[in-house]
Amino acid sequence: MKFVVTRGQIVARGLTNRCPNCGARTLFETGRPFVLSSGCTNCGLKLERDEGSFLGAMSLNYGVTVCLYLVPILLAYLFLGLDGMIAAVAAGIGALGFPVLFYRSSRSWWLMNYYLVLPHHLPANQRAVSEDEDANT
Ligand SMILES: [Zn+2]
Repeated sequence: MKFVVTRGQIVARGLTNRCPNCGARTLFETGRPFVLSSGCTNCGLKLERDEGSFLGAMSLNYGVTVCLYLVPILLAYLFLGLDGMIAAVAAGIGALGFPVLFYRSSRSWWLMNYYLVLPHHLPANQRAVSEDEDANT
């Protein structure tokens, strides 16, 4: 089965906060950078899948904050001699600030993960699947 939207395109679009189906910059509402659009205004893909779908993005955000920000500070404190007070202040500020800065990417990355695993759920790829079914009959 050949997909119209490949997994490589899904990753590229996810990393650049674009719609996984059409690649348009429509994930967030215009003028409201922290509000995910309910749907893509270009292709109509439903972005808010169901209640609780944000939990995956939130978990991803926490995980990235811990792994890419807090653990390096801890390691710098333990092994590189970073002052304890500086490490504590940097960790506190980063624990609050990093998730805010990463919010948009975490929503996009979570959509990317979903469609990376289930690329046939994209409307563009569903047309390809139905064409394959027609060819096989
Ligand atoms: Zn779209």
